Amino acid sequence: MNRDLIITNAALFIDGRVDDASDSLGIANGAIAAIGSHDDVEAAVAADAEVIDAHGGLVTPGFLDCHAHPVQAGLERLSCDLTDSTDADHAVAMVSEFVAAHPQLDWIVGGGWHMQHFPDGKPSADLLEAAAPGKKIYLVNADHHGAWVSPAGIAAAGVTEASADPADGIIDRDEAGRPTGTFQEGAMEIFQKFLPIPSLDQRVDAIVEAQNYYHSLGVTGWHDAIVGEYAGSGDSTEAYLETVDRGLLNHIVTAALWLRRDITLDTVDEAVAGYIAQRHRFGDRIGVSDPRYRLRATAIKVMMDGVPESKTAALKEPYLDACGHPTDDLGTSHFDQAVLLDILPKLALAGFQLHFHAIGDRAIADSLEVLEAVKAAGGDPALNHHIAHLQSMDLEDIPRFVASGAIANMQALWAANSQQMRELNLPLFGQDRYDIQYPFASLEKARVPLAMGSDWPVSTPDPWQAIHVAVNRLEPGETSLPPLAPDEALSLGTCITAYTRGSSRVFLDDTLGRIEIGAPADIAIANANPFDVSPEDIWLTRNATTIIGGQVVYSGTATSEAD
Ligand SMILES: [Zn+2]
Repeated sequence: MNRDLIITNAALFIDGRVDDASDSLGIANGAIAAIGSHDDVEAAVAADAEVIDAHGGLVTPGFLDCHAHPVQAGLERLSCDLTDSTDADHAVAMVSEFVAAHPQLDWIVGGGWHMQHFPDGKPSADLLEAAAPGKKIYLVNADHHGAWVSPAGIAAAGVTEASADPADGIIDRDEAGRPTGTFQEGAMEIFQKFLPIPSLDQRVDAIVEAQNYYHSLGVTGWHDAIVGEYAGSGDSTEAYLETVDRGLLNHIVTAALWLRRDITLDTVDEAVAGYIAQRHRFGDRIGVSDPRYRLRATAIKVMMDGVPESKTAALKEPYLDACGHPTDDLGTSHFDQAVLLDILPKLALAGFQLHFHAIGDRAIADSLEVLEAVKAAGGDPALNHHIAHLQSMDLEDIPRFVASGAIANMQALWAANSQQMRELNLPLFGQDRYDIQYPFASLEKARVPLAMGSDWPVSTPDPWQAIHVAVNRLEPGETSLPPLAPDEALSLGTCITAYTRGSSRVFLDDTLGRIEIGAPADIAIANANPFDVSPEDIWLTRNATTIIGGQVVYSGTATSEAD
C-alpha cells in the first residue's frame, strides 16, 4: 500500500473554479479523503503521510485525453524522433547519432522533422546519405503529411524517374525527373510494404513510453481512437493485453475499435459479431491487476471523412478554386451512409459507444443522422456517443447536436488562427467558412457536453497547450495575429472541466475527473496557477506532479513539446 499523502499550499480546482475555502487535500488508500485546510486534512490521513507543497500551483483532477493514438506516439518517440530538432543541421546530426546507436536495424524509421527548417519544406535524400551512407531511412514530417527518404530507401522501394505519381500524392523531383527525397501525402504509401511492422515487444514498449510521457504532463487516462488494422499500422490489441498482463499499465484506457471500410450491407451482421468478440477479449482482462486500472474496449471509431488540406473533409458546399470560385468538389465521405445507418444502431444496441471523426459540415451532419437513427432504435443515451474534431460545422446543425445527446470531443490545439491555416484553409473555405471554424462556445451555449483530447502524435498531448488555444484562439506564444473566431473562445475553467470531468463521460466512468471526497486520487499539480496569469501566458503552465490512485507517478518539471 502507498503512503498517505497531503497536498498543501494549493489552488484547488473544484467544481469548475478555484476553491477559496480550502488549500489542502488529504489522500488515503488511493482516494481523496479530505479537502480543507492543512490542519483539517492532517486529521484524515496517517501520521506518516508524505507532504507535497504545491507552492500555490493549480491542483486539478488528472487530465483525460479523449482522442489519441498513444501506441503510434510511443513508437515514434522510440524511433528516430526529430521532434526536438532545432534546424536542418541538428536534424541531420540526430539522424547520424540514431543510426550509430542502432547498427542492427535494417530500416531506420522515425519522424518529427520540421518543414520550415528546409528550403521549400523539402529536405534532400543527399543529406541523409551524408549522415548515414548506404542506410535505408524513412522519416515522416511533424505534420504526418510527407516523408523524407534516403537514396538507399528510395532504391529499395524501386522508385526511379520512371515511377508515376500516385493519384493522391506527389514524388518531389529534380529537373531530370529523379526523386529528390521527399514524398507527399499518398506517395508515402509507396514505402509502407517495405517498412518493418513493429513487434509485440516494441508495441508494449511504446505503450509504456506513451504512458510515461503522459505521466509527465498530468494526464492519467487515454481513449485510444483507433485499435484495429488501419493504414498498415498493425493491430495493437495484443500489445494492450500484454501490457496489462505484465502489470505495466496504470492509466485508465478505453479503446475505440476501428470500423473497417470494407463492410457492406451483406456483411453487417457478421461484422457486429466480430466487434462483440473483440470487445470480449478486452473484457476478460478487467481486473487483471488493480480493478480500477482497467483497459476496456468501449467504443467503435467511425472515420466519416478526411481533412480539408487534402480536400478530403466532407462539405455541404464545395471547396473553392484558386480564384475563389466554387468547384464541384464536396470532399470525401469514407462510408456509404446506408451501411452506417444499418450497422451503427446495431453496434450501439450491443452496447458500443460511437466515436465519430467528423471535420467537414457534411460529415458532422451525417454523424448526427446516424445518432438520430440510434435514438429511434432505442439506443441507451448513457453510452455517451461523441463527435471528434468539429472543424467546419454548420451552426444550423447545433439543435440536432443537442437533441442527439452527443458529446463534442474537441482537439482545441487546432482552433488557432495561424499562418499555416491561413495559407492552407482560407483559399479552400473562403472567409465566411474560415471564420466559423471550431465553434466551441456556440456548442457550450447550447449546452452540448464538452470533452477534450489531443490527437497525439498529430499534436502535442500537453493539455495546457490545447487549453491555451481554446481560450486564446491563437497558437501558444502567438500574439501578433488576430484570433480565430474570437466569439468561440472558451473560459479557462470551462476548458479544465472539459479535459477532466467532461472527458470522464467518454470514459464511461463518472468517478473520474473530479476532486471530491471518495473520488480516486488521480491528480495533476501544475507549477503555477494559470488563473493568476494573463490569458496569453496560459501555455507557460507546466505540470509538476502527477498522482494516480494515490501514488506519485511523476514529479519534476515536464518539458513540453512546445518548449
Ligand atoms: Zn485521431
